[in-house]
Amino acid sequence: MAEAPTAQKTQKPIVPFLRLPENPSEQPYLAGTRCKTCGAVYLGARMACSKCFATEGLDEIKLSDKGELHVFSIVHQSAPGVPTPYVAAIVDLPEGVSVRCNIAGVEPDPKNLKFGMPVQMVTEAIRTDREGNDVIAFSFRPA
Ligand SMILES: [Zn+2]
Repeated sequence: MAEAPTAQKTQKPIVPFLRLPENPSEQPYLAGTRCKTCGAVYLGARMACSKCFATEGLDEIKLSDKGELHVFSIVHQSAPGVPTPYVAAIVDLPEGVSVRCNIAGVEPDPKNLKFGMPVQMVTEAIRTDREGNDVIAFSFRPA
């Protein structure tokens, strides 16, 4: 009698543009799209370029895991179950893409944060889904 196949526990990204390479020597990264026609870069997948309206030649690219803190806000009230305070931010990547994210690895106090400070992407398992897979989220921390 054959054994029932057991589901393999895996890691699942919390957003579709977070890539988690299977090879453990490769770091997780954010995926973007570059328009071959005009060079515009976007976060995540695109059906068309909003700068030149091209619908072909949109290639997936690996975005940098380092960027600069563009703006931040310390959130003191959130949805039930979301621990506060935390730092909500927009990080600019060198490809010209802005990423909404949280800033981790620092006390949520304005004295620890500076506009333009270098930050680096990190990932962590934030919960387990119903099938037992780790759900992986990304954030940025001071570099
Ligand atoms: Zn374009």
